[in-house]
Amino acid sequence: MILKGIGVSDGIAIGKAFFIDRRIVKIKKYKISDDRIAIELKKFKDAVKKCEEYIKHIKEISVSDIGEEHTFIFDVYLLLLKDDMLIGETERVIRNEKINAEYALKKVSKNLMDIFERTEDPYIRERKNDIKHIVDKLMRFMTNDGFVFNETTGEKRIAIAHDLSPSETASLLRQNIIAFATDLGSKTSHTSIIARAMGIPAVVGLEKITDNVVSSDETIIVDGFNGVVIIDPNEDVLREYEEKEKKYIKYVEELQKLIDVEVKTSDGVEINIFSNVEINDEIEVSNNYNSKGIGLYRTEFIYLENGNVSEDDQFEILKDAVMKNGDKPIVIRTFDLGGEKLSSLLPHPEEQNPVMGLRAIRYSLRFQDFFISQIKAILRAAVYGDVRIMFPMISGVEEIRLAKSVVKDAIKELEAEGKEFRKDVPIGVMVELPALALITHLVNKEVDFFSVGTNDLIQYTVGIDRNNEYVAYLYRPTHPAVLHLLKKILKDANKGGIEATVCGEMAGDPKYIPVLLGLGYRNLSMSPASILKAKMIIRRVNISDCEKLVRSLKRCKLARIAEEKLQKFIEKHASDLFFH
Ligand code: PEP
Ligand code: MG
Repeated sequence: MILKGIGVSDGIAIGKAFFIDRRIVKIKKYKISDDRIAIELKKFKDAVKKCEEYIKHIKEISVSDIGEEHTFIFDVYLLLLKDDMLIGETERVIRNEKINAEYALKKVSKNLMDIFERTEDPYIRERKNDIKHIVDKLMRFMTNDGFVFNETTGEKRIAIAHDLSPSETASLLRQNIIAFATDLGSKTSHTSIIARAMGIPAVVGLEKITDNVVSSDETIIVDGFNGVVIIDPNEDVLREYEEKEKKYIKYVEELQKLIDVEVKTSDGVEINIFSNVEINDEIEVSNNYNSKGIGLYRTEFIYLENGNVSEDDQFEILKDAVMKNGDKPIVIRTFDLGGEKLSSLLPHPEEQNPVMGLRAIRYSLRFQDFFISQIKAILRAAVYGDVRIMFPMISGVEEIRLAKSVVKDAIKELEAEGKEFRKDVPIGVMVELPALALITHLVNKEVDFFSVGTNDLIQYTVGIDRNNEYVAYLYRPTHPAVLHLLKKILKDANKGGIEATVCGEMAGDPKYIPVLLGLGYRNLSMSPASILKAKMIIRRVNISDCEKLVRSLKRCKLARIAEEKLQKFIEKHASDLFFH
């Protein structure tokens, strides 16, 4: 069976399916050896602790919204987390029956819920739901959002899922997963970004892959180039793809030869390539490809991976990132949480339209204690390298000033605490809302640099959800409105004497790099996995041809015509750049 989706990360992988259905959290029972009892107990206790912190945090932030008198439910949850019939009993079952923590909790909670179910008192019966809620949370904390890889097989597998959150993707990458195939998703969803960064083939937006893969014995081919997934291929197809896989490896070897060459256009204009990273491991890839530094460090992944981390823990992670990056610049973006970056760990009010809601800087400014501890961690890490701070989703000057005042408060606190930190850290903003792009002439003296987030800029300019596959066809970087905004941002950056870097996916896509060069951009920040291909296209083109291309794209009324023009340009200069 052949399924067509959106190829979001290049490469070809052949392997057996690993089916993930997080709509149903499947808890397997397995026996554990004596020396594993302590590990299972610790896993359970850690989950209880994390759950407690989580609930305390939600309680705290909910007081202002719903009033102190209504927050008693959180106290009920906290009491349940200390309850011997639930917590103590689970620990005893792990110890006495020598079974895994998840299953022990499932067993104990089921017994408890059965007892509650049988009572006459409606109030007590209702408490059954509280137990269920807490047990679900504990399960998620223990199983990393609801699933664990079967560690016993050690076999390389292809993850098949309805959808994956960024934290699930990141945790899968640490296991034996060699490719992804999902029902939902788009080119710029974070699952895709991570897969690309780590060089793992992925196809998303397949709509029905989870209905069609029936067993984990089935062989799956993932063709990330063409957005194709083949389930249970016949001998001929399998052989054909094994050949393709070999060719692909050769192609990658060719690209590797570009690692040490200069990044200049054919007419000698130097282009600076930086990296976008989500996890510290990617900084090694970035260094291997000789990037000029980190143009975007997405700190939300620290949160998604670790939950509500303390200032000290954040400091340790960031210090490690800064040290790995050496003396090159590293732009640390403050949490861009909320919207589609809402993990199940994030305390967040119910919102009808989260992408337009309490996301990024709006979330940080609302929960200032949370924000200030992040800024303090960044300023402390800045002692170890060339750190810059960047604020996401800024819509106007007011927000910039408010965010800067939090930096001032963080400085005062650090001084009072006598901690070592750096004061003179440059501060920049993401230009990713049309509102800010249209007023960059008013902003260019307020900040030290601009970074253009085309993923969101396109989303909010065209008015489409960047993760919605039904409107993905409208996601066009060559839309004249987008080109117009990109031109204005750079012009205002130049007038203000500050740098502008493009850090959205567009900057790492070889097809759109000539467009950005033609618009005048010289700083591009991209996933490390895109660097070599970017270098190749940059070395093939000259600036006046790119400028001509932009002029002709701006005149196109129809998106289809613009795409055709761009395609012709690419074929003329670098048809061999794309693996077929
Ligand atoms: C962007 O919006 O282009 C961007 C780089 O930020 P993110 O993808 O993290 O939203
Ligand atoms: Mg963004």
